[in-house]
Amino acid sequence: MLTASLKNKKLFTTIHYTREELKEFRKKGKDQFYCPQCFASLILRIGNQNVPHFAHPAKSSCDHRHISESAHHLLSKKLLYDRLNQLFPEVYVEYFLKELRQTPDLFIKTTQKPIAVEIQCSSIPISDVKSRTIGYRQMGIIPFWVLTQPIKKSSLLHLTSFQQSLVSYSPHLHYYLLQFQPENKVFHLYTRLIPVTASTFISAYSLKIPLDEFTLPISLYPSQLKDAFIPRVWTTNRKKWIRNRLTYHNDRDKPFLREVYFEGDILLYLPLYIGIPLFPHAILFLTPPVQWQYYIWKDVLKKYRIFSSKLVIRQVRKRIDRGDIKVRSFPLIQMETDYHQLIMDYLTILEEAQVIVKRIDGNYCLSHTWNFPKNFHEFEKHEKEFFPILKHILKME
Ligand SMILES: [Zn+2]
Repeated sequence: MLTASLKNKKLFTTIHYTREELKEFRKKGKDQFYCPQCFASLILRIGNQNVPHFAHPAKSSCDHRHISESAHHLLSKKLLYDRLNQLFPEVYVEYFLKELRQTPDLFIKTTQKPIAVEIQCSSIPISDVKSRTIGYRQMGIIPFWVLTQPIKKSSLLHLTSFQQSLVSYSPHLHYYLLQFQPENKVFHLYTRLIPVTASTFISAYSLKIPLDEFTLPISLYPSQLKDAFIPRVWTTNRKKWIRNRLTYHNDRDKPFLREVYFEGDILLYLPLYIGIPLFPHAILFLTPPVQWQYYIWKDVLKKYRIFSSKLVIRQVRKRIDRGDIKVRSFPLIQMETDYHQLIMDYLTILEEAQVIVKRIDGNYCLSHTWNFPKNFHEFEKHEKEFFPILKHILKME
């Protein structure tokens, strides 16, 4: 902790003082710093490496004691305080909210709604992210979560379910994740996240924001977000996902593979329009795009000569109820993100790609009878024809 209560109930925060000043305070007497929550006497630690901080004595039962605060966390808190204090006149460190029994790392009073900053370097249960977020909102407080954990990166982002729970949404950034790296004093913003599997994502655009340029809310203009999404990356990963299903024979995949097989379809040669990365809402489904889009084909598009969007949505709902399609939930996102929009986006893209046609009565039908690649040669031909169309329809605004 960085903040303690004094005998006169005033709050005392270490980062407002130099190490020398703190050492002077400490000399004055032992029992002068108290936990604002449990009122136990605290120990002031002033090392050479870490940010000076308070600690409970070893045998304490205070809730605060269990919050493991690494040097990394203390540093993040100090750096973010320094920056936010330049932007807002009233920023508090570890502000205890009695009604919620919550102590956000930083609390900002503004002319409008106050903001609670939660810095997260260790994983906590997603139910806690959810309940804290709801608690803040009920009190009219805007929660702002900052992830300071490292993120595993290859050509894709690998996000744990905890990290995914901190994904947020804005109309400009689409679904995004904000990470702060205290050692480099830089924020890393991963925007326009497209799911490849349940735990891997393409960030169509990611950028670094130096701490001294960071603002709250995040101010980035669409012009700063270039169209950086490469359909090639998508098709490569789509292919890889399919190959992995066929290679590893996971029990989890068996029901899906069986359905494809008994339909007489060949997973390896499914047309590219099954498994389209849909902007921005594809992330709503935990089930990968190839799989849920195939269900739509199997349940509706292959089955009915004429179909309505309502029928497609109804069939998807059945799949969700049966657990064939799994939905992601995002505790931080308030917008009504239901999957109906995602299904409509898929139909729109199929229409744009002239795979389906909208009739005058508002219903749809296939533009050609279902006839897809049966072998590698036919698939290559399809890929060559369809890739430019895919490139065109995936062009972001
Ligand atoms: Zn305490």
